[in-house]
Amino acid sequence: DTEQRKPREIRKSHKLDNVCYDIRGPVLEHAKRLEDEGHRILKLNIGNPAPFGFEAPEEILQDVMRNLPTAQGYCDSKGLYSARKAIMQECQRKDIQGVGIEDIYIGNGVSELIVLAMQALLDDGDELLVPAPDYPLWTAAANLAGGRAVHYLCDEAQDWAPSIEDIRAKVTTHTKGIVLINPNNPTGAVYPPSVVKDILQVAREYGLVVFSDEIYDKILYDDVEHVSTGALADDLLVVTMNGLSKSYRCAGFRSGWMILSGDKRPAADFISGLDMLASMRLCANVPAQHAIQTALGGYQSVNDLVLPGGRLLAQRDVAWKKLNEIPGVSCVKPKGALYMFPRLDPEMYPIEDDQQLVLELLLEEKMLLVQGSAFNWPTPDHLRIVTLPYADQLEEAIDRLARFLARRRKA
Ligand code: PLP
Repeated sequence: DTEQRKPREIRKSHKLDNVCYDIRGPVLEHAKRLEDEGHRILKLNIGNPAPFGFEAPEEILQDVMRNLPTAQGYCDSKGLYSARKAIMQECQRKDIQGVGIEDIYIGNGVSELIVLAMQALLDDGDELLVPAPDYPLWTAAANLAGGRAVHYLCDEAQDWAPSIEDIRAKVTTHTKGIVLINPNNPTGAVYPPSVVKDILQVAREYGLVVFSDEIYDKILYDDVEHVSTGALADDLLVVTMNGLSKSYRCAGFRSGWMILSGDKRPAADFISGLDMLASMRLCANVPAQHAIQTALGGYQSVNDLVLPGGRLLAQRDVAWKKLNEIPGVSCVKPKGALYMFPRLDPEMYPIEDDQQLVLELLLEEKMLLVQGSAFNWPTPDHLRIVTLPYADQLEEAIDRLARFLARRRKA
């Protein structure tokens, strides 16, 4: 048979049909092309502190280097004992209830653990309540696991607090868990304990697992206090996620952890699933685990960035002020994290496709933001900006955004 056969098409699995992660989506490809052509792009799209001149504390770098020779082998699937012990002490500081060494799992970033937890929990058709807007990995991971992310609304008029009414309206017999992201990406909200308690009450009534993503818990502005979800309930299973990527500015180390707190007795089967999946991936990157003990126990240099005089606080202030000066643009002042989620008045800026808008912004002004719909926000009227660049770069970027929007303004 000399006839040339058409090669068989290789297609992605149907498991990916409802999975998307648009923070690194198609617009980024255009940005790469522009850079290849020699353009300089102002990037306000990814929450990665290192490229913006934020350095990890020197002492944790030293720890990783010093321990490198003894970090060649695999470790326990859940992670190094010394690192987990330090995380346990952190739980005591944050008043997270009932955590032993075996309740702590170290992963290659929180990202790995989110995917792992969703795989362990969700059967086909199971539902997970996820905020809108969200950090979209939660939605992607729930859907990849065969479940279905159902979005509850956060209320911009209430400083982006979750709407308890909407949460209650969206619980069904298929709901297995609820996710809180606090402090929040992309809105910068830090939830008052009363709001968290209301969510816990819903979880209690319907037997839901509570997932609390607290990776920004040390990036707090204006004296706001962060209270861990796990500190507010000891009668429910609470799964808390945290890590080194943001507060300790070493996202590239890929070091995060997951803590099980509260009442674990009814969850023995789920936990055995977590244990199995943790062993299947053998263990997390060992050298980076050596950073955890000193990071948590050492000098908390992140405070120098968020207190008056600190770079992160100054940048938030500049960005917030300048965004609100653009006609038709309004932005709730973030109390934490590294982002802003401004609203564009739909009367002034009737947008049909916010991804297209962000692409046009890139092509016309050589700057990169992420569209609100990438965070599962239902209407095309928000953008997310990252407040990591130096103040002068943020000002430059927001000036470009203002110029771009002025060309599009109706009314
Ligand atoms: N959770 C939230 C809310 C995030 O914003 C991010 C990263 O941006 C992550 C988790 C992922 O963190 P990691 O670097 O630990 O995988």
